Amino acid sequence: MTTSRRNLLAGSATMATGALVGCALPAGAARSPQTPFDVAQPTIPIVGSDQVFPVRRIYCIGRNYAAHAREMGSDPTREPPFFFQKPSDAIQVVMPGKVADHPYPTLTRNYHYEVELVVALAKGGRDIKPEDALSYVYGYSLGLDMTRRDLQREMGDQKKPWEIGKSFDHSAPIGPIHPVAQVGHFADGAIWLKVNGTTKQDATLKHMIWSVAEQISRLSQANELMAGDIIYAGTPENVGPVVRGDLIEIHIDRLPNLSVRIV
Ligand code: MN
Repeated sequence: MTTSRRNLLAGSATMATGALVGCALPAGAARSPQTPFDVAQPTIPIVGSDQVFPVRRIYCIGRNYAAHAREMGSDPTREPPFFFQKPSDAIQVVMPGKVADHPYPTLTRNYHYEVELVVALAKGGRDIKPEDALSYVYGYSLGLDMTRRDLQREMGDQKKPWEIGKSFDHSAPIGPIHPVAQVGHFADGAIWLKVNGTTKQDATLKHMIWSVAEQISRLSQANELMAGDIIYAGTPENVGPVVRGDLIEIHIDRLPNLSVRIV
């Protein structure tokens, strides 16, 4: 829709509202529609700022590390990585230096961790070229793509959507966003995860099949990206289960570690 068309529609809506309540509103007054109740906007703290990052969509990339693709039973030379989504209110903000309680979800008996780099976008677009893509990044964090693995597999086997395995409450723990100006970009460096002090996942961001720039570019071919979108950039190999009481610690070089306790 063109800007003028949008303004015209907004103007008509304003006039209709004015007529309904029997009072004329000033010409051009843009009044947002009233809602019967409030819906929270999920946000993530921004390091070094009083502002918070508003989350629009959570995109996740599947099988972006060859060794993880193989452990999931696929051949990375034949099947490229792909995208799925979690609801934006699936985020659970985890602050460095604290241990956040993470609820073991319902319906699963095989609850898995996946440590991932997270990319936060400052602006959006369509068909973004890989060479331009990093200029769309607001900042980075690290997070967990928590997964009901048994349900994900069951649904996959039945050729049904993965959602119940991936897209549920609290399934996206994440740390605060570090603006690019402070931390730069991430193409390299260690990414690891420990459970109760024992290393489980231990890899390098260099092993991502699609780089951050390529992920943004590919995703922008499928959907128009917008400011506020975040991308979970995929997990390396050696995913595995946790049970109540377990302590997960995650690390990416140049970002502070995060810890959650499964409760
Ligand atoms: Mn994942």
